[in-house]
Amino acid sequence: MNDLSNSLAAADIAHSVHPYTNMRLHEKQGPMIMARGDGVRVYDDHGKEYIEGLAGLWSVAVGFSEPRLRDAAVRQMDLLPYYHSFAHKAHEPAIRLGEKLAEMAPEGMNRVFFTNSGSEANDTVIKMLWFMNNGLGRPEKKKFLARNKGYHGITIASGSLTGLPANHKDFDLPAIPVTHLTCPHFWRWGEEGETESEFTARLLKEAEDVILAEGPETIAGFIGEPVMGAGGVMTPPEGYWPGIEALCHKYDIILISDEVINGFGRLGTTFGCEKYGFTPDILVTSKQLTSSYMPLAAIIMNDKVYNAIADNSEKLGTFGHGFTGSGHPVACAVGLENLAIIEERDLIGNAARLEEQFQGGLRKFADHPLVGEVRGVGLIAGLELVADKASKRSFTPAGKVSAQAAKFAAQEGLICRNVYETLALCPPLIVTEDDIDQIIERMGRALDLTWEWVQAEGLS
Ligand code: PMP
Repeated sequence: MNDLSNSLAAADIAHSVHPYTNMRLHEKQGPMIMARGDGVRVYDDHGKEYIEGLAGLWSVAVGFSEPRLRDAAVRQMDLLPYYHSFAHKAHEPAIRLGEKLAEMAPEGMNRVFFTNSGSEANDTVIKMLWFMNNGLGRPEKKKFLARNKGYHGITIASGSLTGLPANHKDFDLPAIPVTHLTCPHFWRWGEEGETESEFTARLLKEAEDVILAEGPETIAGFIGEPVMGAGGVMTPPEGYWPGIEALCHKYDIILISDEVINGFGRLGTTFGCEKYGFTPDILVTSKQLTSSYMPLAAIIMNDKVYNAIADNSEKLGTFGHGFTGSGHPVACAVGLENLAIIEERDLIGNAARLEEQFQGGLRKFADHPLVGEVRGVGLIAGLELVADKASKRSFTPAGKVSAQAAKFAAQEGLICRNVYETLALCPPLIVTEDDIDQIIERMGRALDLTWEWVQAEGLS
């Protein structure tokens, strides 16, 4: 696919160590080098056009060429390119962005802590709850509940909360006390003859059984993505989130909604918790916060969590945690401008309005011989590929067919991401009806090419 004599590609192969990449395969096939962006489209170094159907990494809400974000960054670079917020220091962009996020968040969530990435944010949440519970004189309340196939990052603690084998195996994780509960995905994990509400009831019982077996006095937090992203785009069964919220209240467990993908309109609502009718104690956001033009994440917490941490910081003399880049002024300035654009252009409303066209168009692929389930909400969707539709059996080796399908999609001018057996789509929020028609058309061609290839290769 790539011209290996191209000096950029050769230099990449010679020197770059890529995240989430089979490095030996990369040495042979080389990189796909992106050269420029324009709206929902990106262009590679050969000038080939692609619709960025995953908005980069589920993150570029306003598209790949927004001049207002560039201008906001330049303005802040000129004024004060860097300052920190340790030891009572402050600057306007972080103050204004904190104020804005408190305004957007559910009632009672008034305090914001900034980090550079979603992983750092979740590590920070873990440390905040440990710090809080030590301060409250209950040092045994340190464990976490998470879910299989949940994604919360890759640092040592956040990677422990992630429930995916590739993030644990040979990394010696989990390294903190965490129990991974059943993935709340009815189509895959519902039992023969079980209804969706029975499935929800079983999962809630499982969660309560684990809480009681471990002892509620040992469990600090429950973390989950309202709609699971990187594990394969799984939407929760009816009643799941209010049920989890009730358990957290009953057993005094802090509920953390990891909205790094869901936040700022992805589901057609400002936050995913709003969509599914629950109120967390902590909201973790990143990605669409700045459209990923700058690295930034924000932890938005309620007064209960804040006050417990604040009290302990007073007792100890400080909250001994923070990053050099926490609340970076350029990132915060870009975040503020990005949120202003999301509001002015009603991009959250756009996601809600286009949901039917996007989800409805993709649902038609449920009839395709390769597709087991099409799922999603708002402007995020997943197509799970199966070797056998009736039994839902996946292809072996795992991930081979979905990887090939993503390659065919790129060949057809659509970037999607193969996560395990699922092809994920999560286009920029500025996507139009025309773009969606093209996404669906290109995906259809990619599926047909994949089906021909599967048959030619004799895969099953
Ligand atoms: N939480 C969720 C829900 C995510 O999707 C991600 C990233 N895909 C993270 C946390 C980690 O974010 P980062 O890659 O910025 O560390």
